[in-house]
Amino acid sequence: MTADDPAARLAETHARIARAAATANRPTDTVTLVAVSKTHAAAAIRPLIAAGQRVFGENRVQEARAKWPELREETPDIALHLVGQLQSNKAEDAVALFDAIHSLDRPSLVTALAKAMDRAGRRPPLFVQVNIGAEDQKGGCAIAELPALLASAKAAALPVVGLMCVPPLKLEPAPYFALLAKLARDNGLAGLSMGMSSDYETAVTLGATHVRVGTALFGAR
Ligand SMILES: *Cc1c(COP(=O)(O)O)cnc(C)c1O
Repeated sequence: MTADDPAARLAETHARIARAAATANRPTDTVTLVAVSKTHAAAAIRPLIAAGQRVFGENRVQEARAKWPELREETPDIALHLVGQLQSNKAEDAVALFDAIHSLDRPSLVTALAKAMDRAGRRPPLFVQVNIGAEDQKGGCAIAELPALLASAKAAALPVVGLMCVPPLKLEPAPYFALLAKLARDNGLAGLSMGMSSDYETAVTLGATHVRVGTALFGAR
C-alpha cells in the first residue's frame, strides 16, 4: 500500500478484497469493509466518506459519541460498528449509537444488551467475540464457553449474526480464521468478522463477511 490519498487507498483495499474473494470463489459483495476510524478525527474520515465508504468502526463508545453525530448529519446513510470491548454500563449508549456490535463476549453483557435493546426499541446485530488463541490478556469468550454464551443470547432473543476474532499477534493468522469459520458453521452462524490491515485478504479467502481495516485506509495511528 503506497498510495497516500484516501480514495486511492480505499480503491486499493477494495481491489485486494475482490481478488481474495475471487480466489475463494466468493462474490465480492459478500464481504463488508468496515473502515476502523478510531483515533482519527472527522477531518481524516470525511475524505473516505467522499470516496464512497459508508461503514465505519470505532472501538470506544465515548469517542464515537463525540465524533459521529456531526458526520452522520452530513451523511445520513453511514453505518457505525463497535469493534472494541464493551462495558455493561455502556450497553445502552452502544445500542443507541451503533448499527452493529462485534464484541459480545460474556453473560453479563447478554443481560445488559437485552435490557438496552428492549428499552431502546432498537436491535443492532451482534457478533460474539471469541478468544480464538486462548490468550490471557485478550477479550472474547473462551471456545469452551461459546455454546453456553450463544444459548443464553438466544434465550434473551438477541440478534446474534456471527462470530468475531482477533488472532494472536505475530502468529500466522490463517489457522485461527479457519477455526473461527468452523465454529460459526457448527453453530449455524453466517457472519464472520475477521481480518485487519495485515491479514484481511487471508481472512476473506477463509470466509470473512466483515473485515475491520484501519491502518491500511487511514495510515498509522
Ligand atoms: C483497531 C482495530 C482494528 C483495525 O486494525 P488495523 O490493524 O489498523 O487495521 C480491527 N479490529 C479491532 C478490534 C481493532 O481494535
